[in-house]
Amino acid sequence: MKLPPGISERDFSQATDRMRDIVGKDWLFTSDEDVLLYRDAYSPFLGEPEEYIPSGAVAPNSVEQVQEIVRIANRFKLPLWPVSAGRNLGYGGSAPRLSGTLVLDLKRMNRVLEVNEKLAYAVLEPGVSYFELYRYLREHKLKVWLDCPDPGWGSVIGNALEHGLGSTPYRDHFDAHCGMEVVLANGELMRTGMGALPNAPTWNTFKYGFGPFISAIFGQSNFGIVTKMGMHLMPEPEAAQSVSISVPRREDLIPFVDIMAELTNRRIVDCLWEIASPILQSRDPEVSSLLAKSDFTVLDVENLGRAKSLGYWGTRLWFYGPPKIIDANWGYVQERLALIPGATFALADRFTFPLADPSLAKDDPMTVPNGDALRLSALGIPNMSVFALGAAMRQHGHIFFSPVIPMSAQDLFKAEEVFRGAFKTLGIPWFGLQPFAWYRRNFILLFIFPITEEVSANKVLRANLAKLIRIAADNGWSEYRAPLVLMDDVMNTMSFNHFALPRFLEKIKDAVDPNGILAPGKSGIWPKSLRKVRP
Ligand SMILES: Cc1cc2nc3c(=O)[nH]c(=O)nc-3n(C[C@H](O)[C@H](O)[C@H](O)COP(=O)(O)OP(=O)(O)OC[C@H]3O[C@@H](n4cnc5c(N)ncnc54)[C@H](O)[C@@H]3O)c2cc1C
Repeated sequence: MKLPPGISERDFSQATDRMRDIVGKDWLFTSDEDVLLYRDAYSPFLGEPEEYIPSGAVAPNSVEQVQEIVRIANRFKLPLWPVSAGRNLGYGGSAPRLSGTLVLDLKRMNRVLEVNEKLAYAVLEPGVSYFELYRYLREHKLKVWLDCPDPGWGSVIGNALEHGLGSTPYRDHFDAHCGMEVVLANGELMRTGMGALPNAPTWNTFKYGFGPFISAIFGQSNFGIVTKMGMHLMPEPEAAQSVSISVPRREDLIPFVDIMAELTNRRIVDCLWEIASPILQSRDPEVSSLLAKSDFTVLDVENLGRAKSLGYWGTRLWFYGPPKIIDANWGYVQERLALIPGATFALADRFTFPLADPSLAKDDPMTVPNGDALRLSALGIPNMSVFALGAAMRQHGHIFFSPVIPMSAQDLFKAEEVFRGAFKTLGIPWFGLQPFAWYRRNFILLFIFPITEEVSANKVLRANLAKLIRIAADNGWSEYRAPLVLMDDVMNTMSFNHFALPRFLEKIKDAVDPNGILAPGKSGIWPKSLRKVRP
């Protein structure tokens, strides 16, 4: 068993014995077999002694139990790593950043405490998954939608705290939260926003409350354990329409992104959209043989694209709302993009609600075929189809590198040049950019690297990722979220004015958690006792 630094076996067993008394013997886990379940299945340290491994896990089922556990952890200075569903695959799973940390598994606290249909919000405990909330809304025939990320098994709260993302107008999950209840590092209970006012009916409707907007500091941090959260939901629209758009020339990216950015900022387009290249991503044999040549030109690609009716760039959008508003928005989008010669527009699926198509509303959304995954998520239906893609590629797992750049074509071209060059230097095959318009005014460039069972390949991957973070930072770009293994690397790039921000975060950490028991190392924030000198 791995113990945290400075904790003796005697102290560990005394602390866990007391916790067992609180939660009951079935909910404190220290056997190797149980701990295995809390390891990161996609760990980039697979088979290496450095793997981040917890000492065990404790699973309370009430706020009072969480408070008691935190008090015991303080007495023994035993660090805790809170997870809600613990499905943070690609970013660390449910493993802690510091080996030996005890996982505080909140999965059993999975009550939907309230859903207000009129004002479209829910109040949840951390263990409520997207599947569970979806089933609750369906069973109670409530006309509100949740917005889900690709995997439906995650926690609505855990995902939001990680700044996770989905696909509808409510895709920015942290932005959609409203009002938290937090167990602080000393075991005290606090409510944020209007929750500070006893019995305030606005706790889950008005998120700022009075004074500083303090909920923000509990996202991607280690300052408290969130035990309840309000989430704004989307009132069920009358209809949803998907459409696709393409433009024929590489240089069209400039007006295309400019117009799409403006339409997105005006919320005429209000969904996740991605820039794809129908021609470069085509599996057509003629396209493949052209791209395999060493001397093909952009003009060759554009001409072949025209012949095959495949755009150089393309995207897919969803519109939601009353049909006449959908039609008006789509009409305006076409009017604006028609300024680009050769732009094409196509209508795809239209759904009306409540859903008439029983195949999309079936009880077990986990069984839908692959191709439906994106469509289901866009309709607020959680599913697990995205995992079939990894399985099809026979990967052990993967890790994300996800820098954020401004939403402009010039920045995209620059990022393409910088990362293509970096990949070449590092000996990584270039697979192109995947820009996702999750946040307004920005693209997230999602790079997905496979984790293998080969230790040497994983070592090279880790070194390469650290270098990519540095290269991105040298160009002014950083990540929206980082896997455990890269958290320090990312925080160590935040060097403005002698690391003023990391130093401020450390001051907060020392003030609110003097014993350093909450998630040491989360987002590169370490308690005093474990802090290394900044580079
Ligand atoms: C194939 C694939 C596709 C994916 N697609 C998406 C996607 O579309 N969108 C997306 O956002 N993500 C995506 N992910 C990443 C990830 O799987 C999801 O974000 C997932 O929802 C996170 O797990 P979770 O919700 O169980 O959160 P958890 O694992 O429960 O929490 C994540 C982290 O938040 C903190 N935390 C959690 N709960 C608390 C609490 N109560 N108090 C204090 N801190 C807490 C902890 O640091 C924890 O490690 C994808 C991953 C894979 C492998």
